[in-house]
Amino acid sequence: MTPLRCLITAGPTREHFDPVRYLSNGSSGKMGYALAAAARERGWSVELVSGPVHLVPPDGIQVIKVVSAAEMLAACEEAFSRCDLFIAVAAVADFRPKQRAVEKRKKTEQALTLELEPTIDIVRTLAARKSAQQRVVGFAAETHDLEKSAQRKLTEKNLDWIVANDVSQAGIGMDADDNRVILFSRAGERLTFGPAPKIDVARFLLGKIVP
Ligand code: C5P
Repeated sequence: MTPLRCLITAGPTREHFDPVRYLSNGSSGKMGYALAAAARERGWSVELVSGPVHLVPPDGIQVIKVVSAAEMLAACEEAFSRCDLFIAVAAVADFRPKQRAVEKRKKTEQALTLELEPTIDIVRTLAARKSAQQRVVGFAAETHDLEKSAQRKLTEKNLDWIVANDVSQAGIGMDADDNRVILFSRAGERLTFGPAPKIDVARFLLGKIVP
């Protein structure tokens, strides 16, 4: 089989409202980096668009570091047309502050109200443009209604596969070393794996997505 060209997003994004303060989430980036490592093991080329994380990227991959959802979208838009497989693992912030102050805001005793606006959904935007040869995989991290929400996102975002992971339990999922996943395909398959180390989960997922 010819090696695939793989584009992966990983980690959180940060949405600043002044130069030092931002909204973000607790994603460590471990699942996305594990997928990048597993893709390299298979001899695939990997472009990894990564939010701010404390991880050493696997050897032999191209890392594009970004901070905000807008930067992640721009990097993915630039790379998407040359990938065969796009895996959106990043826990992209859903909202960003409408205003970003140029200077650090002074602390006052007053309550602070931030006006937020939605960020653009990267995987939805790119999956809408995919060619017949390209495959797009999304993740759904949920604390409740996991399977139903994941299946809804699979269809609504025009994905080929979605990986559902339960983030309500400590020790698996977000920021943990292990994960337990349910993989749903467009064709109606439902496959489970784990709890297991994220690298094993990554190998399982790639093996199913590209047998
Ligand atoms: O809708 P929700 O955020 O739960 O969907 C999760 C999936 O969508 C993940 O694959 C995530 O990487 C992707 N996503 C994205 N851009 C966003 C929000 C989510 O690519 N702004």
